[in-house]
Amino acid sequence: MPYNTPAFSFKWLSSSILGLGSAFMLTACATTGTASPGQTSGQTAKTSPAPQAKNVILFIGDGMGISTITAARIFDGQSQGKKGEEHELAFDTFENVALIKTYNVNAQVPDSAGTATAMMSGYKTNIGAINVPPALLEARSADVCNPAALPDTMTQRAQSAGKAVGILSTARITHATPAAMYGHVPLRDLEADTDIKGPFAGCSSLAQQMVGSQAEVIMGGGSKEFSNAQMQTLKTDFIYVDTKTDMKRAKTGKLRGLFNRDHMSYEADRAGSQEPSLAEMTSVAIDRLGTDKDGYVLMVEAGRVDHAHHDTNAYRALTDAQALNEAVKVAKAKAGADTLILVTADHSHVFTMAGYPVRGNPILGLVKGFNRETRTIDITEAEDGKPFTTLGYHNGPNVREADSPALTDNMVQDKDYRQQTAVNLNYETHAGEDVALFATGPGAEKVRGVMEQNKIYNVMAAAMGWED
Ligand SMILES: [Zn+2]
Repeated sequence: MPYNTPAFSFKWLSSSILGLGSAFMLTACATTGTASPGQTSGQTAKTSPAPQAKNVILFIGDGMGISTITAARIFDGQSQGKKGEEHELAFDTFENVALIKTYNVNAQVPDSAGTATAMMSGYKTNIGAINVPPALLEARSADVCNPAALPDTMTQRAQSAGKAVGILSTARITHATPAAMYGHVPLRDLEADTDIKGPFAGCSSLAQQMVGSQAEVIMGGGSKEFSNAQMQTLKTDFIYVDTKTDMKRAKTGKLRGLFNRDHMSYEADRAGSQEPSLAEMTSVAIDRLGTDKDGYVLMVEAGRVDHAHHDTNAYRALTDAQALNEAVKVAKAKAGADTLILVTADHSHVFTMAGYPVRGNPILGLVKGFNRETRTIDITEAEDGKPFTTLGYHNGPNVREADSPALTDNMVQDKDYRQQTAVNLNYETHAGEDVALFATGPGAEKVRGVMEQNKIYNVMAAAMGWED
């Protein structure tokens, strides 16, 4: 299972998260309630007193940049026998769209912890931190390990308002994005109790904070991050399931599901397992959360689009983006008109789509262009005389070298193929350009223009009638 190894570690961050006041001046313009550069005046307006939306569903494709969306749209269309470019994903029809600026307070190209904080807490923070303000990190305050001293998150506000909360991810449930729905930690690496050491000795692990969460539904992967005692608590204090079958027939109560020791399988590898699809998890979550008369907040993360991109494996990135699209279809069908639905990415990847392929060319295939002289459609050759693919990455492990073998369509359309890259890194990186936000439902009209990522929080808060 070469694609199931969590190859990338954020351990390198631990020295830079605390202290080192670099770029700290950015904090002031990135905090809730302060006008930000690039912000249009309408987005900082006070919230309306009357709630517009009873429920909010936030879909996050981890690493699902705009090039990923375009390629996934074509991939999904071609999987239905179409040319693909004209196809529409479920969220392509949402009426409200914005560009989102994803940078972290101290990072031009962000990570998922800082970006999840922006969405869940309404302020930007340092790369690697989850729901801890940058000022406390820079000051090395002991409060970074004291959730009670930290600003409330959207989840805490929703629960105070009587709303039910659901948290779904195909990644480990202690991974950065889902963790931001229930936890506060100065460093995302603090997933298990065994990760608590050194400068973070006073912190509570994300596994421990997840066990303490009173959200109605929490499901994903990552059971290995939980101690025996924590697993026992999940099984005695909650309705605990670890198979798709048990998830679907679970009795009422607070539901906890962990379907894999590590991240859940990629959608491309899930067949024959007892792991539910993201759409199946979304369906169960909406059914259960929908019984709360006060409404609900649900976060659904396609967590592994990101991991496949880090491995420069476009096939699995696109099939996981396709799985997110299926989950959005479920939400559109099941959630009522009183539900605000948002679809976004936390950050992009260095993933490109290029080369003048003809209309309908297989999106994973070699570039085939129209030859004006022979009036035929031919494989396009690069300066080295060899073909190349439409999809590629700026950096990553499979560098195109002079002695690289000539590619064939069979090679590049294999699900294990890793697209070629320019810069040699053993793990492809995130990208820093804006991502898209698509919105429909009550309150969605605030999604427009170019927005700071933390303003997504304000859109959700305003829809639910909360003061900023
Ligand atoms: Zn990543």
